[in-house]
Amino acid sequence: MRPEFVDFHCHLDLYPDLEGAIAECEARQTATLAVTTTPKAFPRNRQLASNSEFVRVGLGIHPQLVAERAHELNLFEQLLPETRYVGEVGLDAGPHHYRSFDQQREVFRSILCLCARAGDKILSVHSVRSAKHVLDLVEEHLPADRGKVVLHWFTGTVSEVRRGVQLGCYFSVNERMLSSQKGRRILCEIPDDRLLTETDGPFVERSGRPVGPGDVKPALGEAAKIKNIGIENLQDRVLKNLRDILKVSSAKDQ
Ligand SMILES: [Zn+2]
Repeated sequence: MRPEFVDFHCHLDLYPDLEGAIAECEARQTATLAVTTTPKAFPRNRQLASNSEFVRVGLGIHPQLVAERAHELNLFEQLLPETRYVGEVGLDAGPHHYRSFDQQREVFRSILCLCARAGDKILSVHSVRSAKHVLDLVEEHLPADRGKVVLHWFTGTVSEVRRGVQLGCYFSVNERMLSSQKGRRILCEIPDDRLLTETDGPFVERSGRPVGPGDVKPALGEAAKIKNIGIENLQDRVLKNLRDILKVSSAKDQ
């Protein structure tokens, strides 16, 4: 069955019932990237999603956890050959995590180098208050022919969006992001062929409750309105973008 929707960044394992969350993505026919926050969480996620048609699992080390989890980089390296998807990874220079910023940079740099060496990985990348550093590291260590980067909930400047586009990055947007003026401005700068949707559930809430896993319809509707495109056209476009991302890069074995 073909997917109807795309949720390219959702923490399925942070909902109370991971199996139920996977089942919801199936029921919604949403192609979902289940990001994880530590390598230790990857095997259980992957096992429970192994029979899923629409859910794929990313191997991640969340930048907010790097201070305690940097040692899991070894496990990350061991598990990397088992998956094409990497996330959540990246940098966070927000006030609570700035102290570990140097360590985060080291870990993220290592991850980019491992992905470049392996080839053909697809990464969901966090860049809170650190868009420039994320783009610098991507430019230096993961050229577009060695892997694909999806910038999740991007909050950089308009010129940083353009730079990301030049580097070959995609962008996944969620309903919360599109509720702010700045997020809408960023969306307008993202070319249609680089756009994906996400929930970032369960962190994003709607009417005081976490959005459902794979429930990207509001984000899609809002994005269509802002871009002044028919919702079905944008839905098709996002599905096509997903297919483009999934195309195996010819550089894989070089
Ligand atoms: Zn996240």
